[in-house]
Amino acid sequence: MTARVREDGETVAGKGDDDHFHDECGVFGVFGHSDAAATAALGLHALQHRGQEAAGIVSYDGEHFHSHRALGLVGDNFGSEEVIRRLPGTMAIGHVRYSTTGDTVLRNVQPIFADFEFGGLTIAHNGNLTNAYTTRKSLVKRGCIFQSTSDTETIIHLVAISLYSTVVDRIIDAMRQMDGTYSMVAITRQKLIGMRDPHGVRPLVLGRLGGAYIFASETCALDIIGAEYVRDVEPGEIAIVDKNGLRSIKPFAKMPQRFCIFEYIYFARPDSLVEGSNVYEVRKRIGAELARESHVPADVVVPVPDSGVPAAIGYAEQSQTPFELGIIRNHYVGRTFIEPTDRIRHLGVKLKHNANAAYLKGKRVVLVDDSIVRGTTSLKIVEMVRNAGAREVHMRISSPPTTHPCFYGIDTPDREDLLAAHHDPDAVAERIGVDSLSYITMDGLYRAVGGTPRDAVTPQYCDACFTGEYPIPLTDQEDGPVPLQLSLLAEQD
Ligand code: AMP
Repeated sequence: MTARVREDGETVAGKGDDDHFHDECGVFGVFGHSDAAATAALGLHALQHRGQEAAGIVSYDGEHFHSHRALGLVGDNFGSEEVIRRLPGTMAIGHVRYSTTGDTVLRNVQPIFADFEFGGLTIAHNGNLTNAYTTRKSLVKRGCIFQSTSDTETIIHLVAISLYSTVVDRIIDAMRQMDGTYSMVAITRQKLIGMRDPHGVRPLVLGRLGGAYIFASETCALDIIGAEYVRDVEPGEIAIVDKNGLRSIKPFAKMPQRFCIFEYIYFARPDSLVEGSNVYEVRKRIGAELARESHVPADVVVPVPDSGVPAAIGYAEQSQTPFELGIIRNHYVGRTFIEPTDRIRHLGVKLKHNANAAYLKGKRVVLVDDSIVRGTTSLKIVEMVRNAGAREVHMRISSPPTTHPCFYGIDTPDREDLLAAHHDPDAVAERIGVDSLSYITMDGLYRAVGGTPRDAVTPQYCDACFTGEYPIPLTDQEDGPVPLQLSLLAEQD
């Protein structure tokens, strides 16, 4: 979310503004490695798809914490030996971040660090705390001075004022007061801590590399450093690593598990294992379900690259239709969504994709993509495929219609900008100019992802973006835009 000034002069936060409160992220932590910062840099590089706007690493060398945080990509900021040399120590955590506009400011870049009476603590957080503004308001009344608009900073203040004595107890005390989602890594002078919210909405895995312990958002960050995947950090688990090894506690009330189903559909990297399943395999199964549910006679199945590729392979296999790369993507342009304004978003799509006309001309084409959000991508792609001479264009989407925004850490536009929130599939089909449009059904999606039908009372996943059923309270949303007590908005970092 970003901040803007209301007509009555009050500063408010809301999605789509400049100074974010709501973002997508990847986290990494390492304990007991002689090259901790270099390892973290590699891990973050593998997690780059989870956030491309900023990156940071904090290390601890037994005496001091060392921090480097910057706007931009991991490779651009952590690729040099000189930067890594400035981050000594055998413990490090790192963070990649993505917010919806270009105006990310350095003060919001993680890991965040603070000195307490017990020493330093640094935290990197993936997820979104849904009562952060409300909690922040009461903390500000009590005299806490906030330096950023990050929800994660709320945790720092709660840890600081906690009456418990150990750092782990203080963190537990803080997290008991927070709602929302978090997969988090932290380091103190002695410990690396990895923890997941009780619903387990965002992913976090545990790995080993020789004697070192690793936490990472996804297993692809273990693969890049040659670490072995041990297991997922469990929902509600706090895993603590120190010189005595790993111990685990579960201090929170047990909650129904609600892993984010959109991680499978789009967000996680296809080569990652998520909750024990290979993401690529799941996406192919979704494509196969889609073909079973809404097969249409066609000459060729074409993915919208890259996000539509695995589902298109599954669709093509199941429907026995030839698969072709009828659209080629230029990899040197970021994800379409990243561009902040509509004008640039449109330009971005043109820059990013080109029709491979020889494979489209005169053909009945099934286009497969993972989702339609605003509809910008589909509109442009369909026009491109038609201009290349396709005879028919049928769109198949490997998610149900995206009708509701995510408040748990995946960036989505406000509800009014979600095409499917106000248009049924026929109206969307007309709008994007296709001969037919089908989304996977919720049942088909659950079959592909979990193998079991969706339980209407206690769904096995968080699927709020498709159903509007939010499993965790949205306290900050209750009264509309939330007052943000920070008047310095456009700091020159
Ligand atoms: P749109 O053009 O607004 O309909 O967006 C749909 C495209 O954005 C699809 O091709 C998706 O692969 C991609 N997409 C969907 N959700 C997200 C997200 N949260 N962040 C970035 N890209 C996304």
